[in-house]
Amino acid sequence: MKEIVIISGKGGTGKTSVTGSFAVLASNKVMADCDVDAADLHLILDPVLLEQHKFMSGHEAVINADLCDSCGLCADFCRFDAIEQLQDSYAVKHIGCEGCKVCVEVCPQSAIDFPSSHSGDCYHSTTEYGPMIHARLKAGAENSGKLVTQVRNEARQCGNEMNASWVIIDGPPGIGCPVISAITGVDLALIVTEPTLSGKHDLERVLQLSKHFSIPALIVINKWDLNIKLSAEIEALAAVYSAEIIGKLIYSPLFNLAQIAGLPVVKYAPNSQEAIELTAIWQKIESITGGGE
Ligand code: SF4
Ligand code: SF4
Repeated sequence: MKEIVIISGKGGTGKTSVTGSFAVLASNKVMADCDVDAADLHLILDPVLLEQHKFMSGHEAVINADLCDSCGLCADFCRFDAIEQLQDSYAVKHIGCEGCKVCVEVCPQSAIDFPSSHSGDCYHSTTEYGPMIHARLKAGAENSGKLVTQVRNEARQCGNEMNASWVIIDGPPGIGCPVISAITGVDLALIVTEPTLSGKHDLERVLQLSKHFSIPALIVINKWDLNIKLSAEIEALAAVYSAEIIGKLIYSPLFNLAQIAGLPVVKYAPNSQEAIELTAIWQKIESITGGGE
């Protein structure tokens, strides 16, 4: 079973359009949406929920009003102003609590509980193209890297159970903790970039990250014809990092139209030039990784 991750360095490069098309083109695969802060693969794969697991991460203070004698010490010590005074006691403001545990330590009445917090959910779904593991982080919740790891573990487990050939991961943007969680240990990172200054800059950062973790990287330039000069610069940059450019996609309204229709591009317009190019990209990945055999 090969694990590949599609990343972009920055959001909005067309990463999910590419990943969604791979869901159609790859045989015997599990899809994993690890862009847990802004998941959108479900918009084009139309998953039907089968199972839901809680994602527990960090802790949150909860004041037991029966034990609280309203001394106010916890509010004085909370550096995040997350404790408010009520009429007869104090209470923790759910959104403000950073889980630092200081209030628990200073409370003379031991009136503050410190349970794990329910920070999001992980979903097992089925789609027309095969199983999909995805997740949602609650607003304001942290530890998205940990949730990415949970999604990957559950996708890998699902893949092992069905003897899958591929786990295809839609990765998060950027180079932070969630991306590191998404690329660690994969067989290949496919970087989708675009010919803009920020696209080129973020590509270099993500190439450095892949190199640091010894992950082989391939590149697709999306909307390459929008700025041919910058596309040439991206090709030069790719050569510096020995990352092969395996495809160049033209700027096309078809990508938006497919998204509006809620379909992967290769499903929406299977005979289009865009679909032909996406198919060629996928075939190159199969050939380079030796996967899907
Ligand atoms: S420190 Fe404890 S007893 Fe004092 S206000 Fe806070 S919860 Fe209540
Ligand atoms: S755990 Fe920390 S942030 Fe949360 S209420 Fe207590 S002192 Fe404030």
